[in-house]
Amino acid sequence: MADERALDEVVTFTSDLIRIDTTNRGGGDCRERPAAEYAAARLAEAGLEPVLLERVPGRTNVVARLEGTDPSADALLVHGHLDVVPAEAADWSVHPFSGEVRDGVVWGRGAVDMKNMDAMILAVVRAWAREGVRPRRDVVIAFTADEEASAEDGSGFLADRHAHLFEGCTEGVSESGAFTFHDGDGRQIYPIAAGERGTAWMRLTARGRAGHGSKVNRENAVTRLAAAITRIGEHQWPLRLTPTVRAALTELAAVYGIQTDLSDPDTLLDKLGTAGKLVEATVRNSTNPTMLDAGYKVNVVPGEAVARVDGRYLPGTEDEFRATMDRLTGPDVDWEFEHHEVALQAPVDSPTFARMRAAVEEFAPEGHVVPYCMSGGTDAKQFSRLGITGYGFAPLRLPEGFDYQALFHGVDERVPVEALHFGVRVLDRFLRTA
Ligand SMILES: [Zn+2]
Repeated sequence: MADERALDEVVTFTSDLIRIDTTNRGGGDCRERPAAEYAAARLAEAGLEPVLLERVPGRTNVVARLEGTDPSADALLVHGHLDVVPAEAADWSVHPFSGEVRDGVVWGRGAVDMKNMDAMILAVVRAWAREGVRPRRDVVIAFTADEEASAEDGSGFLADRHAHLFEGCTEGVSESGAFTFHDGDGRQIYPIAAGERGTAWMRLTARGRAGHGSKVNRENAVTRLAAAITRIGEHQWPLRLTPTVRAALTELAAVYGIQTDLSDPDTLLDKLGTAGKLVEATVRNSTNPTMLDAGYKVNVVPGEAVARVDGRYLPGTEDEFRATMDRLTGPDVDWEFEHHEVALQAPVDSPTFARMRAAVEEFAPEGHVVPYCMSGGTDAKQFSRLGITGYGFAPLRLPEGFDYQALFHGVDERVPVEALHFGVRVLDRFLRTA
């Protein structure tokens, strides 16, 4: 059981890490080093030997290994990113980099994504050092840079260049799971992530004949692009139920006592009401047009028009995704991936999933644990290249009114102290039994 000091430390560490501004504006504009040094110092105080790793100066990652008692057991990776998305102070009730603790709540950017989890990991391993606890499996701890952009300076760099540090790791746990989802009707659901959709950020280029805006032009690049973008934005992707999504729907239906009919998931989602939101983005692929760029003067038809589309695809559907994009863009518009990441699928019937479930149920007996698939992606994508199966497990028990999904990258991001305490207890229990 996590001790009193661990419960104090998780709050202090969350607050301290928030105060270290690690805003990632993309394009390399971020400096995680002070946060990495902070985390490494806390690990070193607990007798670990963390290493700091950088591809680019200032973009620092931290890796440490805690030796388990059973050398034949597979190792477990526990990872959290150190960077955060930008925050506009003027929009916030409390300064986003103050880390202020007010009325039992820690405020600031990273409070749920994911300096909270970084702090929990630190608090747990330090409590173990005080108590002399050693886990059964080796536990590899990684704090990464650059998760909120390309991961090139973070987990991607670690997977490519420092694979040996992750030797023996078969499974990993990190963000976006085991938080409280209130359905608005008294039920509390704890979704644990066992999969991620793949990322397909695309650039579309339409070519045509440049010319005077007053002349007949049937090869207008803007018209061609607009037509393709409309087809893509309005496309109804077919239902594709992956094993994780099937399990999510089946378990949610059981929570609500609804007849499970996986042949008609849309109707089932309707019946699930607000809880359906946990699944609705993952029953099919998606393509959202997000950027348009063409022309420089109203009476000049440009020879080229460019758009960007945020595509996400489910595990096992990549070929279909590409073929559909070829068809929707048509002969006059080319498309390519600007950023492409794999889709992930993790088993929900594994001993590790069962242990995560048991740890949550022990401290939140009122909750219903269900597996789910993330609609977006995390560092688990990069670590999957090392054969590591990723789960989303960063436990938080949130009171009603704390909309986790809205706080993620949102204004007034904050986390209750009680939620951090729950996180430490559950993470401690899971890692001891993992
Ligand atoms: Zn995150």
